[in-house]
Amino acid sequence: MTTRALVIGGSMAGLLSAHVLSDHFDEVTIIERDHYPEMPEVRSGVPQARHVHALLARGEEIMEQLFPGLGLDFERAGMIKYEWGTDSAYLTAGGWLKRFNTGIHTHMGSRALVDFVIRQRLIQDCQVKFLEGQQVDGLIAAADNGRVIGVQMTERGGARTQTSLTADLIVDASGRGSKAADWLTSLGYSAPEESTVNSYVGYATRWYEKPEDPAIDWRIMFILARPPHITRGAAIFEVEGGQWIATLGGVSKDYPPLDEAGWLEYSKGLPTDAFYEAVKNAKPISDISGYQRTQNHWRHYEKLDRFPDGFLIVGDAVCAFNPIYGQGMTIAALDALLLDQTCKSKRIGTPGLSLKFQRDLGASLQTVWLMATGEDLRYPATEGYTPDLMTRLLQKYVDQVGRILPNDEAVALAFIDVSNLRKPPTSLFTPAIMGKVLRQALTPRPPALGGRESAPMPRLIHE
Ligand SMILES: Cc1cc2nc3c(=O)[nH]c(=O)nc-3n(C[C@H](O)[C@H](O)[C@H](O)COP(=O)(O)OP(=O)(O)OC[C@H]3O[C@@H](n4cnc5c(N)ncnc54)[C@H](O)[C@@H]3O)c2cc1C
Repeated sequence: MTTRALVIGGSMAGLLSAHVLSDHFDEVTIIERDHYPEMPEVRSGVPQARHVHALLARGEEIMEQLFPGLGLDFERAGMIKYEWGTDSAYLTAGGWLKRFNTGIHTHMGSRALVDFVIRQRLIQDCQVKFLEGQQVDGLIAAADNGRVIGVQMTERGGARTQTSLTADLIVDASGRGSKAADWLTSLGYSAPEESTVNSYVGYATRWYEKPEDPAIDWRIMFILARPPHITRGAAIFEVEGGQWIATLGGVSKDYPPLDEAGWLEYSKGLPTDAFYEAVKNAKPISDISGYQRTQNHWRHYEKLDRFPDGFLIVGDAVCAFNPIYGQGMTIAALDALLLDQTCKSKRIGTPGLSLKFQRDLGASLQTVWLMATGEDLRYPATEGYTPDLMTRLLQKYVDQVGRILPNDEAVALAFIDVSNLRKPPTSLFTPAIMGKVLRQALTPRPPALGGRESAPMPRLIHE
């Protein structure tokens, strides 16, 4: 008998999930409410693609494992391979990181191009089918509602014809706006508890031609905000076609304006002038786009007592993060790995397997959630919960690490590994790093954190 899987939503979580499912099912179909553009372009279902999207090293490692040779495909498509130490001008709360070789490489491109390349590989490698222009409106369940057996959908635009499809497994990858909780309650299941931590981040992004200036010796500029008082951060990424994506981000409702003069003026409130100096004479090639739906939002399906078989939820539809930490695509990749392991462990029809998957997924999210929300809770205006004693102690420890980073390559490397989700935060607690933190903490006058940066951006020194 032919086995079928359906994936709702064909963005990053949907594409990667469909890929792993194609090893376990005879037919896999992605149902996407948009029509995909023929070229790499922003589409309405993924509006965040206008803004900088960092692909963390852990995410790229998993994608390369799923699609061998993907890095080369990225380069052929024009994405830039860059090295996290030498190619970045990186200002943390403790100061500029040294420009040293970390050995950590990832590819940088527009989000639309990343999705485009992966979609092409999916079409070549796995013969996944795409059903475009169809919006899923609800689930179809077996008579006792214990198993999901299909979806109902409506054609977008045109005659708005309603149809249905059945399958052995349905995966919801429809993003932050997922209606899965409503669909489950209409079948008699409880709604999941939800956790929200909102530091009220706003993005405003403009694209530029990359200037022909030999003094620009970096491919990425990261400027982190300095909680609690300096609420502005920024990034510039060199992407395909000689373009820069320049994003300003403000925390605690310090939203960057969307008009040209206001946007540039706002950048003068960053901890350094380096961003303003870089863009002030560069040639803009887009309008300024904003984005403010950025809260950390976790729907706790893992805590439900009952969950229907034949149905799973992945990606932002379960847990969406504050984007400033760049974790979303990597979480989608980690979810796909877990989906693969789950399909390998037991036959997918096994009763209880869906709930087990959601519980395993919930457990895997815990650390990343604490990393993102722990940082957000440094801002007094953040809403969600009050940091407990342990969180405050951890924040103090990380502050000390932040003071050491600029002058210590080993500690900076550990920080970059953790930020790239290659290593757990516990790797910042080795005896060597703890010793440095202790010595730093006992320094009579430690370097101040939180004010404007006085040191100039470090130049790349060619040895
Ligand atoms: C401003 C911003 C910046 C970001 N920066 C980064 C970054 O630097 N690095 C990073 O890794 N992540 C970043 N992210 C997060 C990243 O964009 C997401 O985590 C990532 O896209 C994975 O999401 P997803 O596939 O689960 O959902 P989405 O990307 O939201 O996609 C959902 C898909 O489902 C479709 N869909 C929705 N409802 C239906 C339906 N009913 N029927 C059919 N189709 C449907 C949509 O059209 C869309 O294609 C950022 C997010 C934002 C908002």
